[in-house]
Amino acid sequence: MTGSITGATAVAGVAGSPIAHSLSPLIQNAWIRAAGFDAVYVAFSPPADRFSHFAEGLRGGTIRGLNVTLPFKEAALGVADKVGERAELAGAANLLIFNEDGSITADNVDGLGLLGALAAQAPGFDPKAGPAVVLGAGGAARGAAAALVMAGAPEVRIVNRTQARAEVVAGSVGGGAQAYPQDAAARAFDGANVLINATSAGIAGDDALILPLEATPAGAVIMDMTYKPLVTPFLEQARRLGRRTVDGLEMLIRQAGPSFEAFYGRPPPAGVDVRGLCIARLEAWSS
Ligand code: NDP
Repeated sequence: MTGSITGATAVAGVAGSPIAHSLSPLIQNAWIRAAGFDAVYVAFSPPADRFSHFAEGLRGGTIRGLNVTLPFKEAALGVADKVGERAELAGAANLLIFNEDGSITADNVDGLGLLGALAAQAPGFDPKAGPAVVLGAGGAARGAAAALVMAGAPEVRIVNRTQARAEVVAGSVGGGAQAYPQDAAARAFDGANVLINATSAGIAGDDALILPLEATPAGAVIMDMTYKPLVTPFLEQARRLGRRTVDGLEMLIRQAGPSFEAFYGRPPPAGVDVRGLCIARLEAWSS
């Protein structure tokens, strides 16, 4: 926001539940301020069963667009008139654009965030160079697997506690993805180019994921999509083994850039330390 809010202020936001601890308003408003736009980015928390009513009411350019997070990513796909290939393959949307003609366009830029984070924190990483392993079978895992298939990973292996769910994800993302039970993780890790934790294990603080990361090759890149804490026990284990690691905060920031561009038609301004702002906010919350 550049100053006081006026009748001309452009509005965009993020919808989720819960949403109070989203870092997206911090990131987007820092870029808006630096760009000098008359715009504001706010958080919305519609009731769990009312997302489609909420989104329908925004048709016609009331707001520029919405990022969408848990638990509304599948519902977001359902309200859209036009669905991009990335959202189609991921089976979920994390970005809705409200066009002036009243239509809604759905996209999924989580995959761009994932690949952007890998490129930023593991320079030289090439998704085509070998098998990718995704842990989990929820929306995040499906999005990650879809992005890796689209980026040309020669093989995608889905490892999940509930194997039946891994099979559903493997079947839906194409590219010959294979499902593995969690007790066969060492076999899935063998020869991996990249290993991505897309489970929610450890978020409650009492059930961190303990897996045989030593079965990955020394050159494997290991990433955790969870970013609270920034360095998760999973990433600590990977670092102790000497693997290159990538954190989930970088993914969040890297998906925010294409979202900003979709809202305002230009990329975010350079030179804003949004990562530093986010880390300071995460530290304040954990203290
Ligand atoms: P879901 O709830 O849809 O899926 C959770 C997955 O985690 C399931 O596959 C579940 O297995 C697995 N799981 C949960 N607990 C355990 C455990 N103790 N041991 C083994 N597996 C477990 O969540 P999402 O897919 O939506 O999100 C997953 C994570 O990704 C979240 O932490 C989310 O914050 C993060 N995320 C980060 C983003 C970023 O930009 N950094 C973007 C999107 C998501 P099962 O099927 O057996 O129940």
